[in-house]
Amino acid sequence: MHRRSLLKAGMGALAGGIPALGMAEPRAPVRVLCWSEGTAPTSIYPKDISGAVADALRAAGGFDLHTAGLADPDQGLSDEALAATDVLFWWGHQRHNQVHDDRVSAIAKRVRENGLGFVALHSSHFSKPFKSLMEDSCDLSGWGINDAPEQIAVKAPAHPIARGISDFQIAREEFYNEPFRVPAPDVVIFESTWRTGQRFRSGCVWKRGNGRVFYFRPGHEEFPTYFQPEVKAILVNAARWIGPRQVSIEIVKPD
Ligand code: ZN
Repeated sequence: MHRRSLLKAGMGALAGGIPALGMAEPRAPVRVLCWSEGTAPTSIYPKDISGAVADALRAAGGFDLHTAGLADPDQGLSDEALAATDVLFWWGHQRHNQVHDDRVSAIAKRVRENGLGFVALHSSHFSKPFKSLMEDSCDLSGWGINDAPEQIAVKAPAHPIARGISDFQIAREEFYNEPFRVPAPDVVIFESTWRTGQRFRSGCVWKRGNGRVFYFRPGHEEFPTYFQPEVKAILVNAARWIGPRQVSIEIVKPD
């Protein structure tokens, strides 16, 4: 923590100063905490989903990355860890109830008061922090796995999270179905459909106090969704946009 405080003070001093003409202003990395509960199969996600998300961001650059999970002290969500985080990615499925309520309150408070960006992935629609921030049931009307690929349409191409993203397909994914019981999103960025008839608002953003929340639907743990180039590019865009200190979003070309 001491080293981080020094670094922070140093960056503050730089930011407060007037850069000499022609000198590029130093860009502080966005501090990202990737959190997952530790239930994804290691055959698909050897470093859990937190590790896959962190790897996607690391490859893009410009991030100070940490991973955490339920098994860590304070569940990886101490006040100190949260204070040192600009963007929190969250993936949970079977162990939502094991997350301590005081950590949930601490996360929601940091979003509302300090502008922490919160990204809820896939089954995290039912995570305690997401439900706390939505103040709604966050129920789905159906889910399951069939042989239909997920078609993802970009509904808000001008939104920073959609930068560089065209409509795309995920070959195998779980489906979710509307209605999704959440407050009306500020923007619906992505919408998913399956040829078996389901439809879902797959990428939504909400403002909460001084902070922002992004829900991104894909990411069932039995499929390698977080290794797909378009999905990685969306995670990178989200990490650059959703925090308290937005950084310019370069177009991330899915490769
Ligand atoms: Zn799932």
